[in-house]
Amino acid sequence: MEELQQPLPERLDLFTCIQCGKCTGGCPVSIKSPLNIRRVIRETVVREDLHGFFSRLEIWDCTTCSTCAIRCPRGLKPVDAIIGLREMMVEEGRIEKTIIDALDGAYKYGNPWGRAKNKRAEWAQDLDIQNALEMDPGQILYFVCCAASYDPRVQVVAKTLVTVLKAAGVSFGILGNKEVCCGSEIRRMGEVGLFEMLMEENMKNFGKIEPATIVTTSPHCMNALKNEYEGLGSEVLHYSQFVRRLMDEGKLAFETEVPMKVTYHDPCYLGKQNGVFDEPREILTSIPGIEFIEFGRCRENSLCCEGGGGRMWMEGTNQGKRLSEVRVEDALEMGVEAIITACPFCLLTLEDAVKTTGNEEKIKIIDLMELAVMGLGKTLETEG
Ligand code: SF4
Ligand code: SF4
Repeated sequence: MEELQQPLPERLDLFTCIQCGKCTGGCPVSIKSPLNIRRVIRETVVREDLHGFFSRLEIWDCTTCSTCAIRCPRGLKPVDAIIGLREMMVEEGRIEKTIIDALDGAYKYGNPWGRAKNKRAEWAQDLDIQNALEMDPGQILYFVCCAASYDPRVQVVAKTLVTVLKAAGVSFGILGNKEVCCGSEIRRMGEVGLFEMLMEENMKNFGKIEPATIVTTSPHCMNALKNEYEGLGSEVLHYSQFVRRLMDEGKLAFETEVPMKVTYHDPCYLGKQNGVFDEPREILTSIPGIEFIEFGRCRENSLCCEGGGGRMWMEGTNQGKRLSEVRVEDALEMGVEAIITACPFCLLTLEDAVKTTGNEEKIKIIDLMELAVMGLGKTLETEG
């Protein structure tokens, strides 16, 4: 906590910035937003008093994709300056109502949508899944995520992952109504204290069962648990990594033809931030009948969908075309029938973009586990 009280330039080593502008050059929102991350760094270093200097809205245009951190030749994390400024805004109460509601929902109900705690596991009630709190230590815990627990579209992804795990004979459990938000987005909205509270709640339950491996639906949960939960002794894997491992172990093989021309959208928190580029591609290309074409902007150069960093709850300055709409248009030009992705936020933002661009008849957004279920010859009978 002492570290947090240091001024931003010291805390983030921003004095070493050489103002080269590579961060801004790589920033996907810079072409349509007043947000200029190089300028943010400069002003953060030179201004004695940052309070109220930046417009509230431009700071919320950042999606926390971390492209700026990948591009920085000095090894800085410019995105952390944005999060630091959001922390100040939260402290001062200079935040929009939608953010206040999301933080309030996470505080009171353990999820940023403010949905009832006792309905968190409703999606799983007919699926015969073990209560992880009754499992012996050293087992596999499936950490579901708020979006997959409550959003009807993402619930389908959770159900398909359960179908895949069962097909591979994996014994696993979920925390059910005891699971709370991983806090990833909460931290990126600038509420560090609430992130820590949520982390402690989850860690208390992890401590009771000491899972050998935690498998997540969302790359955002995977990133938080793996890189930000201090003292967590479990291996943390995104489902794409775990399913790829099951294939290696000979527990899973896709034998049903799925004739479809597809591309793959790299979720920033999976690819750019955790280097998981190959596993999703290896899963989808192992499904017979799949014709796979890469986006021009893929892997480290992939275009963000604009759903991360609290953007699911905050529009920002919202100028120009949404990046998810650009992504859909790029895919249509490539002539694919579907964009495959592996993140609840990407799934929702891309699906929304299909609707806003009027392309519902031309292209589908499919989660990797939905495709896997098709490759296993199973129907999505679990669809809610
Ligand atoms: S890329 Fe790094 S060194 Fe260059 S302006 Fe951005 S923060 Fe500064
Ligand atoms: S995290 Fe992404 S959106 Fe935010 S400033 Fe960096 S490059 Fe731009």
